Amino acid sequence: MDADILRAIYEGMYGPLDSPGKLKNLTQLAGALSGIARKEPAWTARYLNGIVLGHNGFAVSEELERAISILTARMDGQSEAQARSREITVLTTNGIEPGSIVFGHTTRCYCQLQVVFNHPCRKYCFEECRQRARAERKRARI
Ligand SMILES: [Zn+2]
Repeated sequence: MDADILRAIYEGMYGPLDSPGKLKNLTQLAGALSGIARKEPAWTARYLNGIVLGHNGFAVSEELERAISILTARMDGQSEAQARSREITVLTTNGIEPGSIVFGHTTRCYCQLQVVFNHPCRKYCFEECRQRARAERKRARI
């Protein structure tokens, strides 16, 4: 993501970049974005200004990009769950509908697959993985 999206958000909220009150507006925008990202220390108006002006060494970080996307989604009237969601490719073995929001976290099974289990107590994708893990624990004890 380049500075264009940040510039577009600024101008959508406050008007042209060269109008008066830029520092105050950038301070407010930095505060809003920092709040969304729970960023400590917060981003500064100077940092955002460096980005929108395209100064060397000022780039949109991944964290800022995420906050910008959440702010944009909120401005578009999306729910908080939608605003905080991002689209990724997920493979499923069950009835997860396309476009669903998944709240679970990724964990790693014994077989090294990254998995979002359907229950917090579940540790293995399949019985085979559980048995292989058990066999390895047994061997380690001998
Ligand atoms: Zn597995």
